Formats: sequence, structure tokens, C-alpha cells
Amino acid sequence: MLKVENLTFRYGRRSAPVLQGVNMELKAGEVGILLGKNGSGKTTLFKNILGICSPSGGRILFDGEQLLRIPLKKRAGKIAYVPQDVQFGALSVFDSVLLSRISRFGLAAGREDYEVVERVLADMQLLQYAARSVEKLSGGERQKVAIARALSQEPRLIIFDEPTGNLDIANEQLITEEARRLARERNIGILSSLHDLNQALSFGDRFFFMKDGVIKYSGGEEQFTEAVINDIFDSKVRIIEHEGEKIILGGNR
Ligand code: ADP
Repeated sequence: MLKVENLTFRYGRRSAPVLQGVNMELKAGEVGILLGKNGSGKTTLFKNILGICSPSGGRILFDGEQLLRIPLKKRAGKIAYVPQDVQFGALSVFDSVLLSRISRFGLAAGREDYEVVERVLADMQLLQYAARSVEKLSGGERQKVAIARALSQEPRLIIFDEPTGNLDIANEQLITEEARRLARERNIGILSSLHDLNQALSFGDRFFFMKDGVIKYSGGEEQFTEAVINDIFDSKVRIIEHEGEKIILGGNR
């Protein structure tokens, strides 16, 4: 569904390239996790996929079509973005989800929009909060509203920037399980950055390890080895197995 080929990018004509030939592929229904040290280029890669930054070289294919050739409005319907910290203002849950749909598509709200928003809120178990101000919700509930906003755009791909950064463990699990379920059920691709390596292991299907502006390793859980992790993060973590599951010691950050 998403294919990035030899993507290069630099912020200024005279600055060093931040992306130095990124290659990656994500299939529909898959959760892909992007891992790498701060400054390795994760956000820059997201910005290129979202069309906020224009690549200096290479290409991004979406369902076989060059992303840059897809008109902006159509692109907005394909890719949704959930930023780390969403500012909602004093809107109700229903209105803030509806507004994201309207502002992305630039139309007045019609019956279909109301129906989509209602369905998404029901799916996310947010209907009981529909009339409540988003400001009065907990961090986890607000994060769910942010995901509902992305879903109401009925995208093919959702990009998450550190979705669980400010959440406690229970909400972290809720959000990652919900996102995983949605990916499977609706055949949506998810691409997410995450700091916590153990969380990444339980959330992701496919992992992209980024270092110095390239994806240095990618693949499934088998890529989680001490050698790979310690190379990517310049760290000294250890990996043990417990009841068939890998646990990364020192990997929770
Ligand atoms: P990550 O998300 O992995 O922490 P970023 O993509 O934010 O990494 O940053 C990659 C590199 O690009 C860093 O060296 C950072 O300083 C640089 N960078 C990020 N944003 C800008 C910008 N707007 N202008 C110039 N350089 C930037």
C-alpha cells in the first residue's frame, strides 16, 4: 500500500540531507513501527509521507500511484495524521470529530458526515462522551478522540507520532489494542513512531529501524536482536525470552 523508494530530503539547499535514501514498504492492515534515536529522521520521514515536505529525490507510492501526483484533497482522504499533542479548544467530542472531517474535505456537514462521526464514536466507545467538552476528558480519552478524528476521515493509512507519549499503562494498552484492531478490521495501514521497545514489540507487525537518515534494518519480530537494537540506539540493552516472548531489558524509554 505504501512504498517509499530511495527517498532523500534536505531542509535547506545548503544543509546536509536528513533522509539519505529511505526504502520501506507497508501493507494494508499492517502496523508498522518506526524506531530510531532522536534526530534520526523519523518525523521528517512522516512529513514527507504527509506531503508537508517535498522530497529532494526518490518517490513515495500509494497503492501504486505517485503520492505527489495525487491531488491534495484526495490525499487528505487517504492519509490521516495523529500528532503527539492535539489541541482541541473547547469543542464537544462530537463537534471536534465532525470538524476534522469537514475541514479536511472543505464541505458543509451533510447527513453522511454525521453518520460517519457517529459510527466512529461508537466504534471507539466514545458515544457516551459525545456532548462533553474535550477539555474535560482524561489524557487517554483525549487521545481516543484524536484517533476518532483521524478515522472519521476514512483514511487508508494513519500516521501516529508517539501515540502513547503522555499516557499511563492502561490507556497505552487501550490505544494500541484499539489501533491494532482497527487496522485489521478495516484493512487500514498504521505507521507509528514509538520510544518504548517492548511496547513496539507488542504493537507492531513490521519494524523499521532508522539510523542517520536511512532504514538500516526492517522486518518482523526476528529483527529484534541485541545486535540490531544496540547498533541503532548506540545502547547496551539485553534481550531475554520469557514464555516465548522477547523482553528487552533497558528498552523502556
Ligand atoms: P526524529 O523525529 O527522529 O527525532 P527529526 O526528523 O525530527 O528526527 O530530525 C532529523 C534531523 O533533521 C535532525 O538533525 C533535526 O535537527 C533536523 N531538522 C528537523 N526539523 C528541521 C527543520 N525544520 N529545519 C532544519 N532541520 C531540521
